[in-house]
Amino acid sequence: MTILIKNAKIVDPANKLKIYGDILIANGVIEKVGADIVCDADRVINADGMTAMPGLVDMHVHLRDPGQEYKEDIITGCEAAACGGVTCLAAMPNTSPTSDNVEIIQYILNKAQSANSRVYPVAAITKGLKGEELTDFAELKKTGVIAFTDDGRPVESASVMRNALFLAQKVGSLILSHSEDLTLAGGIMNEGVVSQNLVVKATPNAAEDVAVAREIALSASTSCPMHICHVSSKNALKLIRTAKNDGVQVTCETGPHYFTFTDEQLYKRDADFRMNPPLRAEEDRQELLKAIADGTIDAIATDHAPHSPEDKADFEKAPNGVVGMQTSLSASYTALVKSNLISMDRLVELMCLNPAKILKLPYGTLSVGAPADMVLFDENAEWVVRTEELAGKSHNTPFKNMKLYGKVVATVCRGEIVFDSLK
Ligand SMILES: [Zn+2]
Repeated sequence: MTILIKNAKIVDPANKLKIYGDILIANGVIEKVGADIVCDADRVINADGMTAMPGLVDMHVHLRDPGQEYKEDIITGCEAAACGGVTCLAAMPNTSPTSDNVEIIQYILNKAQSANSRVYPVAAITKGLKGEELTDFAELKKTGVIAFTDDGRPVESASVMRNALFLAQKVGSLILSHSEDLTLAGGIMNEGVVSQNLVVKATPNAAEDVAVAREIALSASTSCPMHICHVSSKNALKLIRTAKNDGVQVTCETGPHYFTFTDEQLYKRDADFRMNPPLRAEEDRQELLKAIADGTIDAIATDHAPHSPEDKADFEKAPNGVVGMQTSLSASYTALVKSNLISMDRLVELMCLNPAKILKLPYGTLSVGAPADMVLFDENAEWVVRTEELAGKSHNTPFKNMKLYGKVVATVCRGEIVFDSLK
């Protein structure tokens, strides 16, 4: 299929490009970028007033498949991805059974072939996420795994994590760390004034800070790169900032819910505001905004974690996690660009270019010859998040009923239109 996009505001920080112009897509790649492209395309889109940007690379997604397909599956998860402009995602291994062997990875890759987004499986660091025996990194990498993590759980043994770092480097892959000290964790929300008022068991920031400090020490002492998932705490950010200044090869991500909300939301006693790590205090949120602006935070990822309404019914007993792929671009645009904290270029770096670089994937750019994964985004749109209108099987979003600015109007993945609200 050939697609000609006319008169778009093109934002492509990889090429330092910010122009008004046309994009021609053919044979699954970006064929041409420039002014006044003339071509007899299968589809011509007048993108006057719209922003054309690379597709989002979401490096932290739980697709629940295999094992919990009542919450989400690979196909429905990728439908939600396409609606949110996510054209490439990293699928976390806490499936059932665990994605710790070649057969499960092949199952995911096969099923994802017909999905609306590219799916890159992340394999478990340890067999069964038990924190003991390392998986077969070399075989898994050969099968198509792009990184390793025990996400959902930390690797408790520093020694096991150290060995994992060496092995990941040896096979040319990356460790993604779920940084949490379990001896300090176990609460249902952030420890602070709100948890005291609600009289519920809470987890202090230190559970994250202690674990992030250990990961930095391991990365520094081995000279192996490490990526820290879902950073939410003020002091963890300060540790990461210092480590980066010292030349430690550490990168990190945060999620839109952390820089949009605080633990005050928990007064609603609604489990759709519960995730791990938890929503923190306003001073943590402010530090996140600062770290996004100064470059300490490399990427925005959703930690998309679908749960059914039944699973989320009880505020205190519900599992952690929120969905996010369909709202991440609008929520980030609202909190960061609309508020004039960062530019649209920087947002594209955070959501497209940097995650692709961290995972060594050829996306996040509109370079001529690059895979044709892109989004048309209407920066002037306003919309209210209605859960009944969201794609995917589960709609446990903290952004429900919230007014957001900017909306994805079309998504192209592998050169095909996978989401289209223009017709
Ligand atoms: Zn995690």
